[in-house]
Amino acid sequence: MKIRRIFILALITLSISSCGLPLHRDLVVKNKGEVRQFEATNPIFANIVTQFEQAGKQYSGNPSFSVGDVPVNFGDTENPSFEGVCFSYPDGRTEVIIRESWWNSASQPLKESLIFHELGHCVLGRDHDNETVEVNGSSRKASMMNAVIVNSGQYSEFRAGYLTELFTQTKQTLFTAFGI
Ligand SMILES: [Zn+2]
Repeated sequence: MKIRRIFILALITLSISSCGLPLHRDLVVKNKGEVRQFEATNPIFANIVTQFEQAGKQYSGNPSFSVGDVPVNFGDTENPSFEGVCFSYPDGRTEVIIRESWWNSASQPLKESLIFHELGHCVLGRDHDNETVEVNGSSRKASMMNAVIVNSGQYSEFRAGYLTELFTQTKQTLFTAFGI
């Protein structure tokens, strides 16, 4: 009985991490006829978007890396579980929407962790990567594209490793920083 329960749990975990149920993730594909809400980024996010672009140039090694036409704004994330979402529209355009009440009480590293995660979906076209590794008995996220964003402490401590993974999809720098 117990083994069966564990097996079912493993199956559920697998299905969540591998196929990404559309109703339960922050990369939301919009239906035909729906159009993007914003044309430009709210100036509140200008700095953090510039940071993403600079990090993209630095870590990818591509000097012409650009965020492109992906506005970031406050709005309705359409799911109480998500503080931020990437909406993807049928015309191929995308946008990031952030819950304002969350933003107003979040720390700076956590804001960057969330915005960079959403831009990972909207600009880099990345999906979730829920791999975790054990370090000294505690579990650490092996990617900023984990469905649950990296917390401010971990992000601040391992920023270079996480950004290397975000822009190059290689984890060795992060794992080396973890000491594994
Ligand atoms: Zn996500």
